[in-house]
Amino acid sequence: MKNLDVAIVGAGTAGLFAAASVSRKTENFLLFEGGPLGTTCARVGCMPSKGFIHAANAVFASRDPRVPGVPVRPDLPVDTGKLLGHVRALRDGLASGVAARVEKRFSEKLVRENVSFAGPMTLSGPSGTYACKAIVLATGSEPQVPPGFSLEPATIVTTDGFFELRQIPAGVLVVGMGPVGIELGQALARLGASVTAVEMTASSAGISDPGIEAFFKKILESEKNLSCRFRTSARLVNAGKRPRVVLENLETGTKEEGRWDLILLVSGRRPRVAGLHLENSGLATDGRGFPVIDPKTLRCKDMDVFFAGDASGLRPFYHDAQEQGVLAGKNASDPKNPSGLVSRIPLTIVFTRPNVAAVGTRFSNLEPGGFVTGEADFDTSGRGILECGKKGLLHIFVDKKTGKIAGAEMAAEAGEHISHLLAAIIHAGLDVEGALSIPYYHPTYEEGVQGALQDAKRKLTAGTAS
Ligand SMILES: Cc1cc2nc3c(=O)[nH]c(=O)nc-3n(C[C@H](O)[C@H](O)[C@H](O)COP(=O)(O)OP(=O)(O)OC[C@H]3O[C@@H](n4cnc5c(N)ncnc54)[C@H](O)[C@@H]3O)c2cc1C
Repeated sequence: MKNLDVAIVGAGTAGLFAAASVSRKTENFLLFEGGPLGTTCARVGCMPSKGFIHAANAVFASRDPRVPGVPVRPDLPVDTGKLLGHVRALRDGLASGVAARVEKRFSEKLVRENVSFAGPMTLSGPSGTYACKAIVLATGSEPQVPPGFSLEPATIVTTDGFFELRQIPAGVLVVGMGPVGIELGQALARLGASVTAVEMTASSAGISDPGIEAFFKKILESEKNLSCRFRTSARLVNAGKRPRVVLENLETGTKEEGRWDLILLVSGRRPRVAGLHLENSGLATDGRGFPVIDPKTLRCKDMDVFFAGDASGLRPFYHDAQEQGVLAGKNASDPKNPSGLVSRIPLTIVFTRPNVAAVGTRFSNLEPGGFVTGEADFDTSGRGILECGKKGLLHIFVDKKTGKIAGAEMAAEAGEHISHLLAAIIHAGLDVEGALSIPYYHPTYEEGVQGALQDAKRKLTAGTAS
């Protein structure tokens, strides 16, 4: 049995930040990685998906007939094999760069194997058994495969297999319209695939504001090649070269059956803990059998075991994996003086066109009657008109009592930037007057923020309901 001050399980984003943090306090640690190096973000997540979306939008722009005089050739076929190869090359460059840096920085600390709990505070793997004073579990998450489906790499894939495709086929069924499903579904449609996208709930992209949801649905309806079905479930009838699937409308019970060349399963991700043998860990669990984690310190109840990144089941985003990794590493190497997570403004961005974004308190979490909604419609904004009708609807939620900005939801061109601006405004604790005192350059999409704030100010003054 070997003794360690800290074991870090998983060399993804969270594990790497944890290892960097631990290395400042002790030399007696190991970083275990059982899969490929390079991180989920760079290999199969944020990076290849955004490269793919950029390529799809480049094709879309080249076929946009809205600017007179610009030649448009929708008849020219897209070489999707080449395009996918380009995305893979970008991805490989990024992932191999990360892998090389990890091997260099942690060479003697990196153990390339899966480990699991052999007992409380004890991990074991092919290289031996390790008694650990503290453990950071940064094992990431894995795609959920909906009941009844099984993976057939050529025709039924999750995002883990998607970027390995050699061609974009003619007909694609996207199962799940959360952030990743709708991003990839829209991009596939923009590349010319005929896409059917299904979603069990009534909403897509995680939007909770009904006005933004209705606006975004209209945009999706206007998207050529994309057909969205809400409140609909998908059931595999048989797999094979062209899998056959039944789609059932959960409200009306209506069923339709079809065959698709490719099924992309994007129905969520779950913490990757199955291989850890948590039953041996002695960790206290909740009703679902998942360890009870203090969301502030990331420490499991009564033991110096810390979760970080997607494995924690808290916020499954890159910046959170980074922050949680740093904190879990710090707390694991000095468990007697734990620090808490900085309470950051929640921010999510979906890279559709227009972007969907939420910042601060979402509509669904606001106190009913306690806020006004300032609205800006980008169709009438100078920049939107100049750019031939680029779309956007922004809702800013303002607390009626304090006049402070509580949050915002939007489906808006440049939403990725607008949401960051609003995050800074909320972080600074500004009220409507304070936020209106910031300069808004003309003509930018940020003028939408100014417009929505002015609308909120009018409503606050008039005492209008939300
Ligand atoms: C398609 C897609 C698009 C995304 N887009 C975005 C985006 O635009 N913006 C954003 O913020 N987030 C995005 N995300 C989410 C983001 O990628 C994740 O939140 C982040 O990568 C999680 O990092 P992590 O360190 O928790 O996990 P990972 O990077 O997955 O690391 C976990 C590591 O643990 C290893 N491991 C697991 N079990 C064991 C074991 N028992 N022993 C040893 N090693 C083990 C695994 O092999 C893996 O390398 C996206 C995700 C996907 C799938």
